[in-house]
Amino acid sequence: MEQTCQFHPLEPATYFCTACETLCCDDCVDDARFNPEPRCFQCNRTLEPRGPGNIEPFWRRLQQSFRYPLATQSLWFILILSVLCSVAFYIPFAVLIYLALFGSVFKYCLSCLSFTAEGYMAPPDITEAYEGGFRKLLVLIAMLFVTGLVINLTNSFLGSAMGGMMALLVTLSFPAIIIHYAISESMIESLNPRNIFDLIHSIGLPYGLILAFIFIMMGSVAVLYQLVAIIPSSLDAIFLFAVTFYYAIVLHHLMGYMVFQFQTELGYSARLQDGSSTRRGGHAIAMAKISTLIKQAEFKDATKLFREQIALNPDKLLLHSRFFEILLATKNAEAMIEFFPKYIRLLESNNRRDLISRNYKRLMAKMPDFEINNPELKFIISKASFDQNDARIAIKLLHGIHKKHPDFKDLIPALTLLAEALDEYPKYADHAAACRRLIGKLDDA
Ligand SMILES: [Zn+2]
Ligand SMILES: [Zn+2]
Repeated sequence: MEQTCQFHPLEPATYFCTACETLCCDDCVDDARFNPEPRCFQCNRTLEPRGPGNIEPFWRRLQQSFRYPLATQSLWFILILSVLCSVAFYIPFAVLIYLALFGSVFKYCLSCLSFTAEGYMAPPDITEAYEGGFRKLLVLIAMLFVTGLVINLTNSFLGSAMGGMMALLVTLSFPAIIIHYAISESMIESLNPRNIFDLIHSIGLPYGLILAFIFIMMGSVAVLYQLVAIIPSSLDAIFLFAVTFYYAIVLHHLMGYMVFQFQTELGYSARLQDGSSTRRGGHAIAMAKISTLIKQAEFKDATKLFREQIALNPDKLLLHSRFFEILLATKNAEAMIEFFPKYIRLLESNNRRDLISRNYKRLMAKMPDFEINNPELKFIISKASFDQNDARIAIKLLHGIHKKHPDFKDLIPALTLLAEALDEYPKYADHAAACRRLIGKLDDA
């Protein structure tokens, strides 16, 4: 069974810390810009990647794969190259021009492979095809020559049966050679039988699927070449080149995706780069760290980190609300005394009177000894509570405010609110009247 993140039981584990022996997901690691590799939140050591988690196998992405070359840039690339290839036939030095053109296609296909392997599911920029295509094609020709030579030598020295076996082996190995070349860019490494075997062995059975696709695609191109007699001859060449290039791109994309899917087995780490996964900022990383700390009941460290983040982000309501929840849950009176006024003022400036009233009630239920000494804060909470039909809290907070805070600038509005709150209870009619007399006196003064 797939192992899951220690902090998110529904997320597959994508990293492992050998020191802390914890499994974590992409969210629970420190992937700040200055860390070339993600680090452990607990011990700050580099983590071991365990693969990308839930990746759709390539055989379930066939539809998307066939749509892959249909991006505007790739389509233009296919079209222009096809036209050029058809025209090149009539120009002197055609062979050289063909080498250059096929080189561009091959180079672009290799870029598609390595881009996909890195998690980019859209084709690379066509500028990828400009430089170095010629050289890559020569390498491909050299690789074909070397493998052909090996088959030939086997044929001559070990007999035609062994030669046939070798031809089959080389055919079956060729995708592995191309994959290796796209990633390592080394011809010698790519032709090393050991590397070829390792790659096929790591991928296992799905490698056979890729081979089957290659044969199906080659077969369908061959059928097209026969059918092409129907199309007017000036266009048939363009059409055939276009179809061939299209299939070549799809195929390289599929091979790249296979590398992406089996990255762990191939000793390699990449993530889907779908635009949404822009790098997290320091705040997002800190919040992820806080959440792992809380889940490990490390409240002291979490509180410290929260304070830092609140100092850096005084306007982030969600951050403040989460800190409030933690302080409430841990009954941290000391930190609450310092934090609560800030929180109430932030709620007030965000027009969240409902939250002021509700959270004050929750605070009093959990920490009944908590006292508010600031008259302005008392007034804010009283107003919010009264708005939420909770006159009792307004009475409790504002009662005697003129004695405790005679210099409070909003004393008259506060007492007016108190009188209104007292009006809610017939038994306090005398108090309400007294309160209004006091307001009258203060007004005259
Ligand atoms: Zn996680
Ligand atoms: Zn660790």
